[in-house]
Amino acid sequence: MTEPRLRIAVQKSGRLADRSGELISGAGLRIIKGANELLYRIENQPIDLLRVRDDDIPTFVADGVAELGIVGYNVLAEHFPDRDLESMIVQRLGFGSCTLKVAVPNDVDYTGPQWLEGKRIATSYPNILGKWLKDHGVTAEIVEMRGAVEVAPRMKIAHAICDLVSTGATLEANGMKATDLVLKSEAVLIKAPHAPAPELAHTYDMLLRRFDGVTASTG
Ligand code: ATP
Ligand code: ZN
Repeated sequence: MTEPRLRIAVQKSGRLADRSGELISGAGLRIIKGANELLYRIENQPIDLLRVRDDDIPTFVADGVAELGIVGYNVLAEHFPDRDLESMIVQRLGFGSCTLKVAVPNDVDYTGPQWLEGKRIATSYPNILGKWLKDHGVTAEIVEMRGAVEVAPRMKIAHAICDLVSTGATLEANGMKATDLVLKSEAVLIKAPHAPAPELAHTYDMLLRRFDGVTASTG
């Protein structure tokens, strides 16, 4: 029988991939980059890294396919708009910081959320935006886009957008300015709803302690 192994779901490539790898290495785990791109083994612990798209991480962890996962709070909040996210989050990781903001063309005299009343807003975050609009008593049409949200106003697809912003350079390049803050995000460590198999409890506890130590020293 094969020994059970813990799984940590991480982004395969992208903005969180390097820092996730550093956190894992920082916790003393030696990653073996194997031929299987989906699953990398940890040499010195009964742990595997499940390397997937960030959008798949909330589901994999919630379903217990992986015991732990590293994902942006924005992705988690969009995926589970009605869940108690705090019960899933083990810790905030202090990297991958970004903000989800409303942005409008430069020539718009944006006076606050009410300006959006009756307008069309393009976003990849329809659930988060929908909640925010509701909280502000605004009724607007949400146009869901998977990517290139920043071109929507120029293409006359929408009057405004709601997108992730870090430096604002992308907005500027598209003749737009950021306005209201909708959500602040950073990478978070999340856990499955059920405890790991008893044989893995020790490894699991050790791992959480080490992650905590790494975050405390780098954060
Ligand atoms: P995947 O191929 O895994 O689906 P992706 O293109 O959806 O990747 P990335 O652009 O790699 O995602 O971003 C991953 C996460 O990094 C975001 O969900 C967010 O939490 C964080 N992030 C940090 N800064 C930024 C930024 N400036 N723009 C977008 N995301 C950012
Ligand atoms: Zn993604």
